[in-house]
Amino acid sequence: MTSTLLRGRTLSFLRWPETVDDHCAWRYEDDGGLLLRDGRIVAAGAYADVEKKADEGVKKIDHRPHLLLPGFIDAHAHFPQMQVIASYGAELLDWLNTYTFPEETKFQNAQHGRRIARLFLDEMVRHGTTTVAAYCSVHKGSAEAFFAESHDRNMLNIAGKVMMDRNAPEGVLDTAQSGYDDSKALIKEWHGKGRQHYAITPRFAITSSPEQLEMAGALCREYPDLHMQTHLSENHAEIAFTLQLYPQARDYTDVYERYGLLGRKSLFGHCIHLSEREADALSDSGSVAVFCPTSNLFLGSGLFNYQRYRTRYKALRIAAATDVGGGTNYSMLRTMDEGYKVIALNGEKLNPFQSFWQLTRGNAEALSVVERIGTLDQGSDADIIVLDARATPAMRLRMETADTLAEELFLLQTLGDDRAVREVYVAGRVMKSDLGLNVGP
Ligand SMILES: [Zn+2]
Repeated sequence: MTSTLLRGRTLSFLRWPETVDDHCAWRYEDDGGLLLRDGRIVAAGAYADVEKKADEGVKKIDHRPHLLLPGFIDAHAHFPQMQVIASYGAELLDWLNTYTFPEETKFQNAQHGRRIARLFLDEMVRHGTTTVAAYCSVHKGSAEAFFAESHDRNMLNIAGKVMMDRNAPEGVLDTAQSGYDDSKALIKEWHGKGRQHYAITPRFAITSSPEQLEMAGALCREYPDLHMQTHLSENHAEIAFTLQLYPQARDYTDVYERYGLLGRKSLFGHCIHLSEREADALSDSGSVAVFCPTSNLFLGSGLFNYQRYRTRYKALRIAAATDVGGGTNYSMLRTMDEGYKVIALNGEKLNPFQSFWQLTRGNAEALSVVERIGTLDQGSDADIIVLDARATPAMRLRMETADTLAEELFLLQTLGDDRAVREVYVAGRVMKSDLGLNVGP
């Protein structure tokens, strides 16, 4: 197989950057090189050094003056909600009942599922997101459609059919048994096939009976290396209803705790209104709190206290996500721009290196996939994006006064979107270029 040598300004993180001067936290090469072979990065560093390791017939691509980063990672999104995004005027529970559940009933139709799965992954790639942890609909066919499209693109994605057996319309309900059986069949068919990862996905406590959460816990015990994803503590009405449905639970987190759903591969969307006990329980179990700023603002759910969770005595592992379609944008740049504002409303700041750490290595660590993605290290999968901080006239003008890498990154986050993502490589293959999207294998 031929190899490819990319040239550009490379940026990859080694750990959380404490300040903008914490240079040991990242590796930046002004004239960097990445040698790709068989879908992996086989050499990385200064271009002059990497070039020496390339063989004769290597294909050279010069991306200067643009930045090369690991592909963005979105830790929580709902692919069946592409036609729910931008629905007006509701808080969480009304929003689910009025817009989301009726829309998700359409995924009974497998053809609809295939169309939306294709368009969703197109949109991910267009925005520079090379990995997403996705919720499918309750229908087994929706997960099959998602995985088939993801596998065709050779993307590393995490997904699962949602399990929900009450408090929703008939067309989006399974049963405790069928939810278990369908999940198990999907695990056998898709988990570990190429780059696909299955996530056990009870939607949330309100739409799962105790029997169903029991079955979800059983799956977690049977397949301990799988992810588990659900929602937790998003808004006050949701919390009150949950505690009404599970009167024996100490608090919302305890509902999941009782069924064995906490753990290092457990991803909890939102986590806005946690008590200290709940935050301790998440921390003790190594569970991940997923920050979804555009969604939390859009639905008026509340302000995720990122810095408190990160720095408390028992720190939380944190991921960042769009939560499309409660979220309002597919772009992780737009997401961190809103995240910055949420953190500012809590009286704190997130510096641009911390933001880009979160979007790449930070999310890869939170999803326990940093051995494969989230960095430009030798041995990593070649999921790489090319960012152009001069992508629009306004960005070009502002760049005239940006002198440092930190300023450039902050500009990308504040003004950037899919237009700033010039090219996208997935496992070494060009999936987006100036010519458009390349979707077929
Ligand atoms: Zn969600």
